[in-house]
Order: sequence, then C-alpha cells, then structure tokens
Amino acid sequence: MNSRNASSEIGTIVTGKASLPNPYIGRFAPSPTGPLHFGSLLAAVASFLEARKHGGQWLLRVEDIDPPREQPGATDAILTALDAFGFEWDGPVTYQSDSRSDHDAAVQSLAAAGKLYRCGCSRRDLAAAPRGSLGIIYPGTCRDGSNTAEAAHRVLTDDEPIVFEDRLQGEQSQRLESESGDFVVLRRDNLIAYQLAVVVDDYLQGITEVVRGIDLMDSTPRQLWLQRLLGYPAPVYCHIPVVVNEQGQKLSKSHGATGVSFERKSTTLVAALELLGQGPPRDLHTGSLTEIWAWARVNWNIDVLEGVTEIAAGLHALAGNENGLS
Ligand SMILES: [Zn+2]
Repeated sequence: MNSRNASSEIGTIVTGKASLPNPYIGRFAPSPTGPLHFGSLLAAVASFLEARKHGGQWLLRVEDIDPPREQPGATDAILTALDAFGFEWDGPVTYQSDSRSDHDAAVQSLAAAGKLYRCGCSRRDLAAAPRGSLGIIYPGTCRDGSNTAEAAHRVLTDDEPIVFEDRLQGEQSQRLESESGDFVVLRRDNLIAYQLAVVVDDYLQGITEVVRGIDLMDSTPRQLWLQRLLGYPAPVYCHIPVVVNEQGQKLSKSHGATGVSFERKSTTLVAALELLGQGPPRDLHTGSLTEIWAWARVNWNIDVLEGVTEIAAGLHALAGNENGLS
C-alpha cells in the first residue's frame, strides 16, 4: 500500500475525507485467538475514548468466525480483562458467528451481481503465484471457471486505485487486482472470510468510525471494495500505531500474545495512555481506575498520533515486564 501526501492524483476515490460522524458508533472487535495482549489493550483504549469523546456508543464484538484459529477460553479471558480494566461497552456483547445468515446473504448478493467465482486452486497450485506485501497475489487462474468439487469463492477486483483518507495516517492507496488479486470471501472450508464478515457486521451495527491497529490498514481497501459492491456506506478509518519492542518486533508476534497483566492495572492503563501520546501526569498511576478513566475522558486527543506508525515500548519503565514491554 502506498502512502501519499498529494491528493492531486486522479483515481477511484471510494471514500471521501475523514470527517467526524454524528451520531458516533465505534467498536472494539477482538478475535478470540488468545488473551487480551497489551497491543489489543491500546486499540481498546483508543477506540473506547474516541467513542466517549464524541458522546457516542462503543460496541464490543467478538470476531469468532475462524474456529481453527481460536483458543478455548479466550473469549472469557478477553471479556474478563476488559471488565477488570473498567471498560464500559454499550449493549450486549455481540458474536460475529451469530450473523452467519447475514454473511451468507452478502455472499449471495455478490454472486447475484456476477462478482463472485469459484476457485479450486490448492496451495500447491498457487505456490508459483507472485507475492506482494499482502501475501499471494492471486493471478486470476479460475476467473473462467473451475470444476473442482471443493472451491473457495473469490470476489472480482479491478485495478483502479482505491484511495481513502485515514484520519491518522493520511491518504492511502491500493490497487487490488495487482496488489492482492481477487480475494476469498467464502473459504473452501465453508467459513466466511474475515474481510467479508467485518464489512457486513460493521454495516449491520451502523459503525461510523473504525479505530484499530495499523496492522489492519492493508485490509481496508478490500473492505472498501466490498462495501462498494454491497452498497454500504464506508465508515471513517483511523489506524493507530503498533507497539514494537526494542528489537522492532510487533508485540503480539514477538511475545506469543502474552495476556495483559492484572497485577498493576492502574500502572498498565496509565502506560497505555502514555504510549498513546496522551501525556498523563506522573502520579496518575497511583490513582484508581475510575480516576484514570476520568482524566482520560477529559484529556483524550487522538490527533497527537497523526502520522505515527510505531510506538517503541522497549524503554518504557511504567509498563513493566509483565506486559512483555521490556
Ligand atoms: Zn483458482
């Protein structure tokens, strides 16, 4: 994906500039592949405070659509952690697996519009395919049909640039056909692919702004493409920097997704605010969680993260070893 400063280039602008939506509905959408780690805590803090700043709702949605990758007990562990840190979500927790019929309806809609095709390619078939930053760039082998019994369903793409204005990271552009190729929306194992599920659920829940980690920014153009094909409005996107350790490794990967520690919750929460550039006062970590949230709600300003793609946590004293930060 290319980051561009100039907006003069002509392209297919799928979504307009990032303006503040009203009424605001935000969300945090963890996958139950492990306990809540510190990187996810940052995304939760940022999305929660951003929603509260706009007097909006903050929804909690568990993205449990990929059972092979899920870990038993992870959902409970994540909810327990969020509750322990004092997050307050609006309405009941929702589960992505409950909207399978809506996901299927979206697949049907794409099929009816002639935008889907069956792909019987095996991993071995694709071994020689070109690779890009998103992984294999599907070369369109099955665009003219596939007769295999088991098949994935891919959505047709074109190569007009998909351009969007990220609230923090600025203008982003990606050409789907040459950078990702036609991508899977219904897997060979009959599971719904992440890109489709997230688009359908964001639409059904009326999400107006998506605040999430920058590791998902590369997915955004595919989601914008699906929104366009399905006739959904696009939310505003706001990608926060990823936390890296002293070696520059992403936290969740480098530490095996260690769960966030409950030992010193106030210290951990203040460390999260500090890493998010909020400059909490030095003695705030001696306060209660209620006091910390009260300070954070008044002082929250996500704009300080504009253009920031990585936060180095290696030297950070407050966050401590127990969160895998040093
Ligand atoms: Zn194929």
